Amino acid sequence: MKILVANLGSTSFKYSLYEGDDSALTLLARGGYERVSDYGETIRDAISSMKKDGHIDSVDSIDAVGFKTVLGFEKTGCVAADDSVVADLRASAELAPAHNPAYANGIEQFAKEMPNAQLVALYETAFYQWASKPSRRYAVPKAWYEAGVRRNGFHGASHKFVAERSAELLGREDVAQQVRFLYQKDQSELPGKPLRVVSCHLGGSSSVTGIRNGVAIDTSMGLSPQSGLPQNNRVGDLDSMAVTYVMKKLGLSIEEVERQLTKESGLLGLSGKSNDVRDIWAAVDAGDDDAKLAIDSLVYSIRQYVGSYMLQLGGLDALVFTAGIGENDTRVRERVCQGLEDLGLELDLDKNAVTRGEETCISAANSRIKIFVIPANEELVIARETSRFLSHNK
Ligand code: ADP
Repeated sequence: MKILVANLGSTSFKYSLYEGDDSALTLLARGGYERVSDYGETIRDAISSMKKDGHIDSVDSIDAVGFKTVLGFEKTGCVAADDSVVADLRASAELAPAHNPAYANGIEQFAKEMPNAQLVALYETAFYQWASKPSRRYAVPKAWYEAGVRRNGFHGASHKFVAERSAELLGREDVAQQVRFLYQKDQSELPGKPLRVVSCHLGGSSSVTGIRNGVAIDTSMGLSPQSGLPQNNRVGDLDSMAVTYVMKKLGLSIEEVERQLTKESGLLGLSGKSNDVRDIWAAVDAGDDDAKLAIDSLVYSIRQYVGSYMLQLGGLDALVFTAGIGENDTRVRERVCQGLEDLGLELDLDKNAVTRGEETCISAANSRIKIFVIPANEELVIARETSRFLSHNK
């Protein structure tokens, strides 16, 4: 079986072509386009380049296309990417403006260009569908909840990969097996000792997720990817009264507040320098106080969520770092793990010197809680889930 994973941005299109089934998928090809104005043309170009390189004979050699859809009001899970998915993506576009229109348009174009391929959508929110009601519900009037105001959670494909991989690394094949089929069947409690993992996806956009037996119990992002940790240029957690207060106090329009919260806040807002931690660290090293505050706030916020989920999980077996900052930033990892020896968590400073692309255990030999760096692999999760969806929906 050949599966194409399509990663769509508002003006970009990246793809990965896999062959095999969910138990063993091989990456055949990868490609990408920037400044895309017409997805149809770009899809045709990608198909001819995969043909030219001998990966496919024709467009019909591709059995399925998997999409990492972000948010739907009515939909979540792993589902056929049909017209109702497209309509729902458009209806909920206001909360995911950078992603939903791109996926709605892209799915329509793929349906035209690849009429014989099965299109499958794996929502970023899917990983949280079994989280408890208190973790998903905000204390707002019921009408708000019914209008869709709830904790959705994001980065689901990345945290799901961590859930599967960490269970394998910890020798818990029972949990790995359960989480492999998370979207195809109801989850029941596993007997025996629960496996408790906290996954830190730290990148341009960041979230922390608590995971019990491979199933998310809670996550730092909420209704939209605006909440939780300070993001690159987006705000993270904020008291809702701040919005109406600055509108009155500073005379800002709702559009201007939205722009500043989504483009000028987060690490950029705190540091006043950059939205990239590499630049921020350079400023810290040059003695800049605002840059130092930005890093301190990021670390503080990560630890707040890690601590909260450790308590909700009743302890911890593994802490995992993934994505751009999580995989590369040795200093952020060191700061997050500092002073937690009494809780059974101890970093090995030499092992912590790993950077991108290396899967490694970085905890000290006597640390009761394991600390892992697991490179993010969202594309593989989409390909696997697409393959599983096909085998369960023959
Ligand atoms: P995104 O979240 O945009 O998909 P990534 O997960 O690749 O992207 O994360 C990008 C972020 O990772 C960058 O903005 C940067 O802050 C951080 N990053 C990337 N490489 C390094 C590095 N070598 N050291 C520290 N931080 C890094």
